[in-house]
Order: sequence, then C-alpha cells, then structure tokens
Amino acid sequence: ILTVAKDFDFFYFVQQPAEDFSIHGLWPNYNDGTYPSNCDSTNSFDDSKVSDLESVLQKEWPTLACPSGDGLKFWRHEWEKHGTCAESIFDERGYFEAALSLKKKANLLRALEHAGIRPADGKFHKMEQIKDAITKGVGYAPYIECNVDSSGYHQVYQVYQCVDASATNFIECPVFPHGRACGNKVEFPSFSSASSRDEL
Ligand code: 5GP
Ligand code: 5GP
Repeated sequence: ILTVAKDFDFFYFVQQPAEDFSIHGLWPNYNDGTYPSNCDSTNSFDDSKVSDLESVLQKEWPTLACPSGDGLKFWRHEWEKHGTCAESIFDERGYFEAALSLKKKANLLRALEHAGIRPADGKFHKMEQIKDAITKGVGYAPYIECNVDSSGYHQVYQVYQCVDASATNFIECPVFPHGRACGNKVEFPSFSSASSRDEL
C-alpha cells in the first residue's frame, strides 16, 4: 500500500475581535493537532501580487499590533509562515482571497447580532451564548481563545473556525487548538473611546 503524505488536512481560520472582527490568519493544520510552518523559503511575500487588494486587506486584515503598521509585515508573516504550506491549493494572491472570502462567509458580527450580542457594548457576555450564536450562524462550533485584561477579566482574544482542505467550506473541527480557554463570563476588548482612539 502506498500512502502519500498530505501536506495538511484542514485549516484554522482565525479572527480577532476589533470594531468588526478582523483576520489573523488561515493556517494549514494536521488532524493530530500539529501543523507545518514556513514551508517554502523560495516563495516569499511579494506585495505587488496583492497591491490591488491592499485597501480591502487594510480593512479586513489589519495589524492590531502596537504601534500600528500598514499591515504589510503582518501579511508577509502570515503568507510565509502559513500560506506557503498550502501551495498545492493556492498561490499568494489566492491565499489572501480565500481568507477574505471566508471572512464574508463567517460574518461573525452578524451571527452575534442575531443573538442580541453586540461586541461593542462594553458588557460582559456568557461564553455559552457567544459559542451558540456563532454555531447557529456558521453551522459549526468555533473555538474561542481568551486573554485577561488589565483588571483581570477574561476577554475574547481570537475565534478559530475550521475549514476544509480546499479552503472553501467550514467544517466540524477535527481537533481544537490549545489556546488559553475562557471563563463563563467574558468581555470583548474595547477598541474605541478609552484606548486607541484617544491617541490619534
Ligand atoms: P500562540 O503561541 O500565540 O498560541 O501562537 C503563536 C503562533 O503559532 C500563531 O500565531 C500561529 O502562527 C501558530 N499557531 C499556534 N497554534 C496553532 C495551531 O494550532 N495551528 C496552526 N496552524 N498554527 C498555530
Ligand atoms: P502567528 O505567528 O501567530 O501567525 O502571528 C503572530 C505574529 O504576527 C506575531 O509575531 C505578531 O507580533 C504579529 N502580528 C502583527 N499584527 C498582529 C495582529 O494584529 N494580531 C496578532 N495576533 N499578531 C500580529
């Protein structure tokens, strides 16, 4: 019997909450929870291949790092670390297009709003309700990773969804990631009044 090693099994599509959600990355993964990275050093990020996508990437895939940048370094990092491990299904441009299209499909903000959850309201929310809302919207349970704010409250850090090996359809997660779990009560990080805006 001949078995061919697959270059990956599925993807994690990872978003971070901001005023809307924004993309962190589209990460090839194996069903056993391990993952390949930095698979092709000859295929480094070429910004000319996405120059016409730049304005939509600025909006949908901004870097939230401080100090904020124009995103190019973040996109380079994501393509080179993760995208190059799925060259069998897309080139650089296709990688960014696939993620943009998944973001539209997921529409996390709308899924939450349908359940009466407005991430920007500054209130605490039950984890159960956030998970249920996203599960109803997309059809599959997400993995939600949290961090802790300066007052010690758990806040949503990233939302992971699983995507089939063609980077097209959401699927049930073959395995959940190992991120930091959340308590029962979480908040969404605040990006408006108190923080970044005042610095402008
Ligand atoms: P962290 O240590 O912050 O959880 O993850 C650091 C980086 O490792 C992530 O930005 C991502 O590039 C990669 N990473 C972490 N967990 C996973 C995973 O389960 N699957 C994949 N494909 N990449 C991961
Ligand atoms: P990963 O390796 O986990 O895919 O991506 C995380 C890397 O991208 C880190 O080196 C981090 O400093 C950088 N980065 C730049 N902008 C962002 C952002 O908006 N969110 C996250 N999580 N990482 C960012």
